[in-house]
Amino acid sequence: MTNKKGFTTTLLHSDRLKKPEHGALHKPIHTSVTYGYDDVQDLVNVFQNKTNGYAYSRQGNPTVNALEHKVTQMENGFATVAFSTGMAAISSTIIALIKSSDHIVASSYLFGNTRSIFQSFMDMGLNITFTDATSVENIKNELKENTRLVFVETIANPATQIADLEAIGQLCAERGILYMVDNTMTSPYLFNPIDVKASLVINSLTKYVGGHGNALGGSVTDTGLFNWTNFPNIYEGFKKLKPATLGVTQIRKKGLRDAGGTLSPEAAHSISIGSETLALRMDRACSNALALANYFESHPNIKKVYYPGLANHPQHELAKKLFTRFGSLMSIEVDDSVDCFAFLNKLALVIKSSNLGDTRTLAIPVAHTIFNELGAEKRAEMGISDNMIRLSIGIEDIDDLIADFKNALG
Ligand SMILES: *Cc1c(COP(=O)(O)O)cnc(C)c1O
Repeated sequence: MTNKKGFTTTLLHSDRLKKPEHGALHKPIHTSVTYGYDDVQDLVNVFQNKTNGYAYSRQGNPTVNALEHKVTQMENGFATVAFSTGMAAISSTIIALIKSSDHIVASSYLFGNTRSIFQSFMDMGLNITFTDATSVENIKNELKENTRLVFVETIANPATQIADLEAIGQLCAERGILYMVDNTMTSPYLFNPIDVKASLVINSLTKYVGGHGNALGGSVTDTGLFNWTNFPNIYEGFKKLKPATLGVTQIRKKGLRDAGGTLSPEAAHSISIGSETLALRMDRACSNALALANYFESHPNIKKVYYPGLANHPQHELAKKLFTRFGSLMSIEVDDSVDCFAFLNKLALVIKSSNLGDTRTLAIPVAHTIFNELGAEKRAEMGISDNMIRLSIGIEDIDDLIADFKNALG
Protein backbone atom coordinates (compact mmCIF):
# COMPACT_ATOMS: atom_id res chain seq x y z
CA MET A 1 0.00 0.00 0.00
CA THR A 2 1.94 3.02 -1.17
CA ASN A 3 -0.70 5.56 -2.17
CA LYS A 4 -2.48 7.41 0.61
CA LYS A 5 -5.56 5.69 1.98
CA GLY A 6 -8.56 7.15 3.80
CA PHE A 7 -8.63 8.10 7.48
CA THR A 8 -10.09 4.87 8.88
CA THR A 9 -8.33 2.49 6.46
CA THR A 10 -5.00 4.01 7.44
CA LEU A 11 -5.66 3.54 11.16
CA LEU A 12 -6.95 -0.03 10.81
CA HIS A 13 -3.84 -1.21 8.97
CA SER A 14 -1.21 0.97 10.66
CA ASP A 15 0.10 -1.65 13.14
CA ARG A 16 -0.03 -4.58 10.74
CA LEU A 17 2.01 -2.83 8.05
CA LYS A 18 4.87 -2.38 10.52
CA LYS A 19 4.99 -6.21 10.70
CA PRO A 20 4.71 -7.06 14.40
CA GLU A 21 5.62 -10.62 15.48
CA HIS A 22 3.59 -13.65 14.27
CA GLY A 23 1.52 -11.56 11.84
CA ALA A 24 -0.31 -9.89 14.72
CA LEU A 25 -2.81 -7.26 13.63
CA HIS A 26 -2.20 -5.15 16.74
CA LYS A 27 1.06 -3.88 18.10
CA PRO A 28 1.63 -6.01 21.23
CA ILE A 29 1.73 -4.45 24.71
CA HIS A 30 5.43 -4.23 25.56
CA THR A 31 5.84 -3.95 29.32
CA SER A 32 9.63 -3.99 29.58
CA VAL A 33 10.95 -0.90 31.35
CA THR A 34 14.45 -1.24 29.97
CA TYR A 35 16.14 -2.66 26.86
CA GLY A 36 19.37 -4.65 26.66
CA TYR A 37 22.00 -4.64 23.89
CA ASP A 38 24.66 -7.22 22.93
CA ASP A 39 27.08 -4.54 21.77
CA VAL A 40 27.44 -1.53 24.07
CA GLN A 41 28.04 0.70 21.02
CA ASP A 42 24.41 0.12 20.03
CA LEU A 43 23.26 1.35 23.44
CA VAL A 44 25.55 4.38 23.15
CA ASN A 45 24.13 5.18 19.70
CA VAL A 46 20.60 5.23 21.13
CA PHE A 47 21.69 7.62 23.88
CA GLN A 48 23.39 9.89 21.36
CA ASN A 49 20.31 9.99 19.06
CA LYS A 50 22.34 8.28 16.31
CA THR A 51 19.94 5.36 15.96
CA ASN A 52 16.26 4.96 16.83
CA GLY A 53 16.20 2.39 19.58
CA TYR A 54 14.82 1.93 23.05
CA ALA A 55 16.74 2.46 26.26
CA TYR A 56 14.34 3.25 29.08
CA SER A 57 10.56 3.28 28.73
CA ARG A 58 10.01 6.69 30.35
CA GLN A 59 11.02 8.25 27.02
CA GLY A 60 10.12 5.58 24.51
CA ASN A 61 8.25 2.28 24.26
CA PRO A 62 7.30 0.24 21.17
CA THR A 63 3.56 0.13 22.00
CA VAL A 64 3.47 3.84 22.71
CA ASN A 65 5.48 4.57 19.57
CA ALA A 66 2.95 2.65 17.48
CA LEU A 67 0.22 4.94 18.84
CA GLU A 68 2.39 8.01 18.22
CA HIS A 69 2.71 6.90 14.61
CA LYS A 70 -1.09 6.67 14.34
CA VAL A 71 -1.58 10.14 15.77
CA THR A 72 0.98 11.50 13.29
CA GLN A 73 -0.97 9.83 10.48
CA MET A 74 -4.29 11.22 11.76
CA GLU A 75 -2.84 14.74 12.00
CA ASN A 76 -0.96 14.58 8.69
CA GLY A 77 2.04 15.60 10.75
CA PHE A 78 5.78 14.98 10.94
CA ALA A 79 6.19 13.32 14.38
CA THR A 80 4.31 12.84 17.65
CA VAL A 81 5.23 12.45 21.31
CA ALA A 82 2.61 10.80 23.54
CA PHE A 83 2.10 11.61 27.22
CA SER A 84 0.22 10.18 30.19
CA THR A 85 -2.55 12.80 29.82
CA GLY A 86 -3.47 15.81 27.72
CA MET A 87 -2.34 18.05 30.59
CA ALA A 88 1.08 16.35 30.66
CA ALA A 89 1.39 16.99 26.92
CA ILE A 90 0.59 20.69 27.30
CA SER A 91 2.69 21.39 30.39
CA SER A 92 5.70 19.30 29.31
CA THR A 93 5.79 20.86 25.83
CA ILE A 94 5.87 24.35 27.31
CA ILE A 95 8.53 23.35 29.86
CA ALA A 96 10.61 21.87 27.02
CA LEU A 97 10.43 24.81 24.63
CA ILE A 98 9.79 28.06 26.53
CA LYS A 99 12.05 30.12 28.79
CA SER A 100 10.96 32.59 31.45
CA SER A 101 12.27 35.48 29.31
CA ASP A 102 9.71 34.53 26.62
CA HIS A 103 6.16 35.80 26.22
CA ILE A 104 3.10 33.70 25.40
CA VAL A 105 -0.23 34.89 24.01
CA ALA A 106 -3.07 32.52 24.88
CA SER A 107 -6.77 32.44 24.22
CA SER A 108 -8.83 33.58 27.21
CA TYR A 109 -11.24 30.72 26.43
CA LEU A 110 -9.28 27.74 27.67
CA PHE A 111 -9.86 24.34 29.23
CA GLY A 112 -9.92 25.02 33.00
CA ASN A 113 -6.82 23.02 33.92
CA THR A 114 -4.85 24.55 31.05
CA ARG A 115 -5.75 27.99 32.39
CA SER A 116 -4.68 26.82 35.85
CA ILE A 117 -1.24 25.50 34.79
CA PHE A 118 -0.68 28.70 32.80
CA GLN A 119 -1.32 30.59 36.05
CA SER A 120 1.35 28.42 37.73
CA PHE A 121 3.79 29.24 34.91
CA MET A 122 3.03 32.94 35.45
CA ASP A 123 3.69 32.54 39.17
CA MET A 124 7.10 31.10 38.19
CA GLY A 125 7.88 34.24 36.20
CA LEU A 126 6.67 33.50 32.68
CA ASN A 127 4.80 36.30 30.96
CA ILE A 128 1.44 35.15 29.51
CA THR A 129 -1.24 37.42 28.05
CA PHE A 130 -4.81 36.13 27.66
CA THR A 131 -7.00 37.57 24.94
CA ASP A 132 -10.19 36.81 23.03
CA ALA A 133 -8.84 34.59 20.24
CA THR A 134 -12.01 34.70 18.16
CA SER A 135 -10.43 37.67 16.39
CA VAL A 136 -6.86 37.71 15.05
CA GLU A 137 -6.70 41.46 15.76
CA ASN A 138 -6.72 40.80 19.51
CA ILE A 139 -3.79 38.40 19.15
CA LYS A 140 -1.91 40.81 16.91
CA ASN A 141 -2.34 43.63 19.47
CA GLU A 142 -0.72 41.54 22.19
CA LEU A 143 2.35 40.40 20.27
CA LYS A 144 5.69 41.60 21.67
CA GLU A 145 9.29 41.39 20.55
CA ASN A 146 9.75 38.28 22.72
CA THR A 147 6.45 36.52 21.94
CA ARG A 148 7.51 32.93 21.31
CA LEU A 149 4.22 31.06 21.33
CA VAL A 150 0.53 31.54 20.58
CA PHE A 151 -1.77 28.98 22.19
CA VAL A 152 -5.41 28.44 21.20
CA GLU A 153 -8.07 25.72 21.28
CA THR A 154 -10.17 24.90 18.21
CA ILE A 155 -13.61 24.90 19.87
CA ALA A 156 -13.49 26.21 23.43
CA ASN A 157 -15.16 24.45 26.28
CA PRO A 158 -17.88 25.05 27.55
CA ALA A 159 -19.18 28.03 25.53
CA THR A 160 -17.95 26.73 22.12
CA GLN A 161 -16.14 29.87 20.96
CA ILE A 162 -14.03 29.09 17.89
CA ALA A 163 -10.62 30.71 17.55
CA ASP A 164 -9.80 32.69 14.42
CA LEU A 165 -7.68 29.68 13.50
CA GLU A 166 -6.70 30.45 9.92
CA ALA A 167 -5.85 34.12 10.39
CA ILE A 168 -3.85 33.44 13.56
CA GLY A 169 -1.91 30.75 11.70
CA GLN A 170 -1.08 33.18 8.94
CA LEU A 171 0.05 35.80 11.48
CA CYS A 172 2.27 33.34 13.37
CA ALA A 173 3.81 32.06 10.14
CA GLU A 174 4.67 35.62 9.07
CA ARG A 175 6.24 36.43 12.44
CA GLY A 176 8.01 33.08 12.96
CA ILE A 177 6.09 32.41 16.18
CA LEU A 178 5.24 28.90 17.36
CA TYR A 179 1.52 28.25 16.89
CA MET A 180 0.17 25.59 19.25
CA VAL A 181 -3.40 24.41 18.68
CA ASP A 182 -5.29 22.19 21.12
CA ASN A 183 -7.34 20.02 18.74
CA THR A 184 -9.05 17.96 21.47
CA MET A 185 -12.56 19.26 20.90
CA THR A 186 -12.54 18.70 17.14
CA SER A 187 -10.27 15.62 17.09
CA PRO A 188 -8.11 14.88 14.04
CA TYR A 189 -11.16 13.48 12.27
CA LEU A 190 -12.99 16.81 12.12
CA PHE A 191 -9.96 19.05 11.71
CA ASN A 192 -6.20 19.01 11.13
CA PRO A 193 -4.56 22.16 12.51
CA ILE A 194 -1.72 21.72 9.97
CA ASP A 195 -4.25 23.09 7.45
CA VAL A 196 -4.17 26.46 9.25
CA LYS A 197 -0.37 26.42 9.58
CA ALA A 198 -0.17 25.15 13.17
CA SER A 199 3.34 24.24 14.36
CA LEU A 200 2.31 21.95 17.20
CA VAL A 201 -0.98 20.11 17.74
CA ILE A 202 -2.19 18.98 21.16
CA ASN A 203 -4.68 16.14 21.56
CA SER A 204 -6.10 14.84 24.80
CA LEU A 205 -6.31 11.21 23.68
CA THR A 206 -8.51 10.60 26.72
CA LYS A 207 -11.41 12.22 24.89
CA TYR A 208 -12.54 11.43 21.33
CA VAL A 209 -9.46 9.53 20.07
CA GLY A 210 -9.62 6.88 22.83
CA GLY A 211 -13.32 7.52 23.02
CA HIS A 212 -14.54 5.02 25.60
CA GLY A 213 -13.64 6.71 28.87
CA ASN A 214 -11.29 3.87 29.84
CA ALA A 215 -7.80 5.32 29.34
CA LEU A 216 -5.99 8.61 29.91
CA GLY A 217 -3.51 9.91 27.36
CA GLY A 218 -2.28 12.97 25.52
CA SER A 219 -0.07 13.90 22.59
CA VAL A 220 1.76 16.68 20.84
CA THR A 221 2.35 16.46 17.11
CA ASP A 222 4.96 18.49 15.26
CA THR A 223 3.35 19.32 11.91
CA GLY A 224 6.74 19.88 10.29
CA LEU A 225 5.83 23.43 9.27
CA PHE A 226 7.89 25.30 11.86
CA ASN A 227 11.50 26.13 11.05
CA TRP A 228 13.41 25.08 14.15
CA THR A 229 16.79 26.12 12.79
CA ASN A 230 16.48 29.66 14.11
CA PHE A 231 14.56 28.79 17.28
CA PRO A 232 16.65 30.34 20.06
CA ASN A 233 15.68 27.87 22.80
CA ILE A 234 17.20 24.71 21.32
CA TYR A 235 19.70 23.27 23.77
CA GLU A 236 23.34 23.05 22.72
CA GLY A 237 23.38 19.23 22.92
CA PHE A 238 20.63 18.89 20.28
CA LYS A 239 21.91 21.45 17.76
CA LYS A 240 23.85 18.86 15.73
CA LEU A 241 20.69 16.89 14.96
CA LYS A 242 18.68 17.15 11.73
CA PRO A 243 16.88 20.52 11.81
CA ALA A 244 13.44 18.95 11.27
CA THR A 245 13.83 16.79 14.40
CA LEU A 246 14.97 19.55 16.78
CA GLY A 247 11.54 20.42 18.17
CA VAL A 248 10.30 16.88 18.65
CA THR A 249 13.62 15.72 20.14
CA GLN A 250 13.62 18.54 22.66
CA ILE A 251 9.98 17.80 23.57
CA ARG A 252 10.81 14.10 24.05
CA LYS A 253 13.97 14.72 26.08
CA LYS A 254 13.32 17.90 28.05
CA GLY A 255 9.57 17.39 28.24
CA LEU A 256 8.67 13.70 28.36
CA ARG A 257 11.93 12.27 29.75
CA ASP A 258 12.58 14.96 32.36
CA ALA A 259 9.05 15.79 33.50
CA GLY A 260 8.15 12.10 33.28
CA GLY A 261 4.51 12.23 32.18
CA THR A 262 4.85 8.89 30.37
CA LEU A 263 1.92 7.08 28.76
CA SER A 264 1.66 3.45 29.89
CA PRO A 265 1.75 0.76 27.17
CA GLU A 266 -1.58 -0.60 28.45
CA ALA A 267 -3.27 2.78 28.05
CA ALA A 268 -1.60 3.26 24.65
CA HIS A 269 -3.12 -0.06 23.53
CA SER A 270 -6.65 0.92 24.69
CA ILE A 271 -6.39 4.30 22.97
CA SER A 272 -5.06 2.67 19.84
CA ILE A 273 -8.04 0.29 19.65
CA GLY A 274 -10.40 3.20 20.35
CA SER A 275 -8.89 5.28 17.56
CA GLU A 276 -9.88 2.67 14.96
CA THR A 277 -13.53 3.77 15.28
CA LEU A 278 -12.93 7.51 15.79
CA ALA A 279 -14.51 8.44 12.47
CA LEU A 280 -17.57 6.20 12.99
CA ARG A 281 -18.18 7.39 16.54
CA MET A 282 -17.63 11.01 15.63
CA ASP A 283 -20.06 10.89 12.69
CA ARG A 284 -22.75 9.45 14.95
CA ALA A 285 -22.07 11.73 17.96
CA CYS A 286 -22.00 14.85 15.78
CA SER A 287 -25.26 13.97 14.07
CA ASN A 288 -26.85 13.26 17.49
CA ALA A 289 -25.53 16.61 18.75
CA LEU A 290 -26.97 18.55 15.83
CA ALA A 291 -30.37 16.92 16.28
CA LEU A 292 -30.35 17.71 20.01
CA ALA A 293 -29.17 21.30 19.45
CA ASN A 294 -32.14 21.83 17.15
CA TYR A 295 -34.46 20.23 19.71
CA PHE A 296 -33.16 22.47 22.55
CA GLU A 297 -33.27 25.55 20.32
CA SER A 298 -37.04 25.17 19.91
CA HIS A 299 -37.73 24.19 23.56
CA PRO A 300 -39.41 26.95 25.62
CA ASN A 301 -37.52 26.06 28.82
CA ILE A 302 -34.08 26.41 27.24
CA LYS A 303 -32.81 29.99 27.19
CA LYS A 304 -29.68 29.54 25.13
CA VAL A 305 -27.91 26.83 23.17
CA TYR A 306 -24.18 27.03 22.46
CA TYR A 307 -23.38 24.84 19.48
CA PRO A 308 -21.30 25.69 16.39
CA GLY A 309 -23.75 23.80 14.17
CA LEU A 310 -26.54 26.32 14.77
CA ALA A 311 -26.84 29.15 12.26
CA ASN A 312 -26.98 31.70 15.11
CA HIS A 313 -23.58 30.65 16.51
CA PRO A 314 -21.15 33.59 16.10
CA GLN A 315 -18.56 31.42 14.30
CA HIS A 316 -20.96 29.12 12.46
CA GLU A 317 -19.60 30.03 9.02
CA LEU A 318 -16.00 29.52 10.16
CA ALA A 319 -16.90 26.12 11.62
CA LYS A 320 -18.59 25.14 8.37
CA LYS A 321 -15.52 26.14 6.40
CA LEU A 322 -12.86 24.52 8.62
CA PHE A 323 -14.43 21.45 10.24
CA THR A 324 -15.88 18.28 8.70
CA ARG A 325 -18.70 18.44 11.28
CA PHE A 326 -19.59 20.65 14.23
CA GLY A 327 -18.46 18.45 17.10
CA SER A 328 -20.42 16.69 19.83
CA LEU A 329 -20.00 19.17 22.67
CA MET A 330 -22.63 21.77 23.44
CA SER A 331 -23.80 23.83 26.35
CA ILE A 332 -27.31 24.89 27.26
CA GLU A 333 -28.68 27.47 29.66
CA VAL A 334 -31.95 26.45 31.22
CA ASP A 335 -34.65 29.04 31.82
CA ASP A 336 -34.79 30.63 35.31
CA SER A 337 -38.09 28.77 35.86
CA VAL A 338 -36.19 25.45 35.69
CA ASP A 339 -34.16 24.28 38.69
CA CYS A 340 -30.86 23.30 37.06
CA PHE A 341 -29.99 20.55 39.58
CA ALA A 342 -33.54 19.10 39.61
CA PHE A 343 -33.46 18.93 35.82
CA LEU A 344 -30.13 17.09 35.86
CA ASN A 345 -31.33 14.69 38.54
CA LYS A 346 -34.36 13.77 36.41
CA LEU A 347 -32.13 12.56 33.57
CA ALA A 348 -32.18 8.76 33.62
CA LEU A 349 -29.98 7.87 30.66
CA VAL A 350 -27.67 10.87 30.46
CA ILE A 351 -24.91 10.53 33.07
CA LYS A 352 -24.09 13.35 35.48
CA SER A 353 -20.35 13.28 35.04
CA SER A 354 -17.22 15.14 34.05
CA ASN A 355 -15.20 14.09 30.98
CA LEU A 356 -16.23 14.46 27.37
CA GLY A 357 -15.81 12.53 24.15
CA ASP A 358 -17.14 9.32 25.73
CA THR A 359 -19.44 7.03 23.77
CA ARG A 360 -22.07 7.81 26.44
CA THR A 361 -23.81 11.18 26.83
CA LEU A 362 -22.54 13.13 29.84
CA ALA A 363 -23.90 16.29 31.50
CA ILE A 364 -22.35 18.63 34.07
CA PRO A 365 -23.32 21.99 35.62
CA VAL A 366 -20.26 24.03 34.66
CA ALA A 367 -20.06 26.90 37.18
CA HIS A 368 -20.39 24.58 40.19
CA THR A 369 -17.81 22.03 39.08
CA ILE A 370 -15.13 22.30 36.39
CA PHE A 371 -15.03 26.11 36.55
CA ASN A 372 -15.80 26.46 40.26
CA GLU A 373 -12.20 27.13 41.31
CA LEU A 374 -11.95 30.04 38.90
CA GLY A 375 -14.34 32.31 40.83
CA ALA A 376 -17.37 34.30 39.66
CA GLU A 377 -15.45 37.17 38.07
CA LYS A 378 -13.28 35.06 35.75
CA ARG A 379 -16.31 32.90 34.92
CA ALA A 380 -18.20 35.99 33.79
CA GLU A 381 -15.18 37.00 31.65
CA MET A 382 -15.28 33.58 30.00
CA GLY A 383 -19.03 33.78 29.39
CA ILE A 384 -19.97 31.05 31.88
CA SER A 385 -23.32 31.61 33.61
CA ASP A 386 -24.56 29.86 36.76
CA ASN A 387 -27.22 27.79 34.99
CA MET A 388 -25.03 26.60 32.15
CA ILE A 389 -24.96 22.85 31.59
CA ARG A 390 -22.30 21.26 29.43
CA LEU A 391 -23.32 18.23 27.40
CA SER A 392 -20.97 15.80 25.73
CA ILE A 393 -23.20 13.92 23.34
CA GLY A 394 -22.52 10.22 22.86
CA ILE A 395 -23.49 7.64 20.29
CA GLU A 396 -26.74 6.37 21.84
CA ASP A 397 -29.85 6.12 19.66
CA ILE A 398 -31.09 9.65 19.16
CA ASP A 399 -34.74 8.87 20.02
CA ASP A 400 -33.66 7.64 23.46
CA LEU A 401 -31.63 10.79 24.09
CA ILE A 402 -34.44 13.13 23.07
CA ALA A 403 -36.92 11.14 25.20
CA ASP A 404 -34.65 11.45 28.24
CA PHE A 405 -34.24 15.24 27.88
CA LYS A 406 -37.95 15.65 27.11
CA ASN A 407 -38.90 13.82 30.29
CA ALA A 408 -36.42 15.78 32.46
CA LEU A 409 -37.51 19.15 31.08
CA GLY A 410 -41.16 18.33 31.79
C1 LIG B 1 -9.56 17.22 28.62
C2 LIG B 1 -8.82 18.29 27.92
C3 LIG B 1 -7.46 18.49 28.16
C4 LIG B 1 -6.69 17.67 29.15
O1 LIG B 1 -6.66 16.34 28.82
P1 LIG B 1 -6.49 15.18 29.94
O2 LIG B 1 -6.21 13.98 29.11
O3 LIG B 1 -7.75 15.10 30.72
O4 LIG B 1 -5.33 15.59 30.79
C5 LIG B 1 -6.82 19.50 27.46
N1 LIG B 1 -7.48 20.27 26.58
C6 LIG B 1 -8.79 20.12 26.33
C7 LIG B 1 -9.45 21.00 25.36
C8 LIG B 1 -9.51 19.12 27.00
O5 LIG B 1 -10.81 18.97 26.76
